[in-house]
Amino acid sequence: MTLRGRLTSAFLVVVLGPVLLGSIFVALTVGAVSRERTTERLDHAASTVSMAVGAICRQLQASADAVAVVPAGDRKAVADQLVARGLATEINVTDPDQPNLGRAATTGDPVANGRQDCANPATGVKDQVTALAAAAYSREVTVIAAQQVDAALLDRLGTAAGVAVAIGAGPPPAAGTAGRELSAEPGRPLPLTLTVPAGEPRARYLILLLIVLVTAVVAVLAARWLARSTTRPLGDLAWAADRVANGDLDTRVPIPRPDELGRLAGTFNRMTRELQSYVQALTASRDQLRRHLAILGDTLSSTHDLDRILPVILRTAMTATGARAGLILLTDPTDGRLAARCGAGLTGAWDLSPAELSQRRLSPGRGLLGRVAATGMPLRGTAGRAPDEPACDSYLAVPICAPPDEDSGPEPAVLGVLALYDRLGGPVFEDADLRTLRTFAGQAGVAVHNVRVHEEAQRLSLTDPLTGLWNYRYLREVLRREVERASRFGRMLTVLVLDLDHFKEVNDTYGHTAGDQVLGEFARRIRIGLREVDVAFRQGGEEFVVLLPETDAYGGVIVAERLGAAVRDWPVPVDPRRPGLDDRIPISVSIGIAVFPEHGATAQEVLDAADEALYAAKNAGRDTYRLAERVSPAGAEGHLDAATATTGGPHPPRHGRGR
Ligand code: GH3
Ligand code: MG
Ligand code: MG
Repeated sequence: MTLRGRLTSAFLVVVLGPVLLGSIFVALTVGAVSRERTTERLDHAASTVSMAVGAICRQLQASADAVAVVPAGDRKAVADQLVARGLATEINVTDPDQPNLGRAATTGDPVANGRQDCANPATGVKDQVTALAAAAYSREVTVIAAQQVDAALLDRLGTAAGVAVAIGAGPPPAAGTAGRELSAEPGRPLPLTLTVPAGEPRARYLILLLIVLVTAVVAVLAARWLARSTTRPLGDLAWAADRVANGDLDTRVPIPRPDELGRLAGTFNRMTRELQSYVQALTASRDQLRRHLAILGDTLSSTHDLDRILPVILRTAMTATGARAGLILLTDPTDGRLAARCGAGLTGAWDLSPAELSQRRLSPGRGLLGRVAATGMPLRGTAGRAPDEPACDSYLAVPICAPPDEDSGPEPAVLGVLALYDRLGGPVFEDADLRTLRTFAGQAGVAVHNVRVHEEAQRLSLTDPLTGLWNYRYLREVLRREVERASRFGRMLTVLVLDLDHFKEVNDTYGHTAGDQVLGEFARRIRIGLREVDVAFRQGGEEFVVLLPETDAYGGVIVAERLGAAVRDWPVPVDPRRPGLDDRIPISVSIGIAVFPEHGATAQEVLDAADEALYAAKNAGRDTYRLAERVSPAGAEGHLDAATATTGGPHPPRHGRGR
């Protein structure tokens, strides 16, 4: 059963129930009262009729007596007079002396001919009584006065008593009437039936019924209106709630009245509105997070450049947790300090350009970030920031750890710290944020680790482990690149090839280890004797190559002289292998110089030219340099001056010391 049906039924029960009960009570009361009144009327009529009948009997008796007492000769006149006055309808005188006197001879039986004797009525008479009679006797004379009982008499009796009067048992009472039978008895010698209208208040019953019907109709209408006006807003609400449950958050319900239902509707609308904006915000943030995750995935798979990877990780972590600002620091392997790598949303002293930010260093173990780096434990809180760290109301910092592997043991190495500041839309960071941030720190850890491994592999494959200089493989790559660049921009490039003199003897005399030390020291002297843009390579054995970009033959000669002196002037200190040997090994180097494009149009040609020049230097007695002599045809065309200039004037000497 619906709510509307229940409300309607309840209202009808409450309103119609008392009305019906009251009506029934009123109907019963009215019926009882009316029956009582009928009975009273009948009682009253019975006594009235009895008295009237008694009066008639007394009148008849008086008439009979009067006729009896008068002299015989007057009797007839008196009797006639009495009949004429209506005191009796018939007076019979039975006088044996005057047989013709009476109007009708009687036998002296008072009940003869349907007459009922007033003085001695026959009780239980139910038949028709045609007359009432009273008798008087005087000597032999019998006078009987009779009153005919006819419709007129009954009418009079009825009129006097206010009822309908019939002789005998009469017809059964008609519908709507009440009757009473009066049998003949002394003092009321007539068997009569009194009938009155039952006095049933039909009209009242009709009015009552009408009132009940009208009340019922009004109650039904009122119940319908009440139920509808109550349940319609609820129906609207149920419909709207159904639509909201199906995902239509645009649904609103009309606010009917400022009553409880109106308040409910208003609250529902407000709730749906807030839910809608909440869902919109969630959807937007989910979409943003998806975009960031897609970018993160692309970035991680496409590059080993930490300067691109780390900002994307930071941005994604900030989006995922709703942080206002964030910072990533990596441990510098050279000094163990925390170096800021990227930041976002930072304020105050940390509102820096990327270049400035990369200069910021924090000591491990100190401050929040230092503690996280030192202990490898995440920190979360609202106060107590270290003085030289970003200002914030709340923070969340987790370590960036290298992915665990078999070599590193159970404790993964801490590579840095990922910190977030001030959660938007919430007072503090929560456990869920910590878990999220650890995920991103894990990503960062893998990325940093991969980059470091990649860099290390790169370095190992391109550097010489003994001297730390670039190896021959890298030489070919760099030489090709530099020649290309010099060619494109019309610049010069000088190549030096260096070979230690009599190095075999060093090995033989001092041992291979000392020879290695000499090679290392030689490489070090090369390195410190060069500009930043110059690059040194170990070509193999005790042969080295130096590339001098943007340098012509002059520059090459100057560098060759400087390196020759740096080797020659300071014998290399070594552990003497045998007593008696000097603990310093005097060494020297021979150097061949070739210039692009003067001495070769390609990388290989320039290198070959420098090798030839080295050979010339060796032949010239070693510990010296030689400038290439072979002139490249291409170089001769483009840089004829430089090639021909090697013979004199302001041009550098073609050979070094020892000539
Ligand atoms: P020259 O003046 O003609 O160059 O004489 P040299 O003895 O230097 O020339 P040679 O090519 O005959 O000898 C090179 C020696 O360098 C041979 C080898 O034993 C030594 N050598 C090559 N690589 C290494 C190295 O990695 N360590 C050491 N200790 N010695 C090396
Ligand atoms: Mg050699
Ligand atoms: Mg040598």
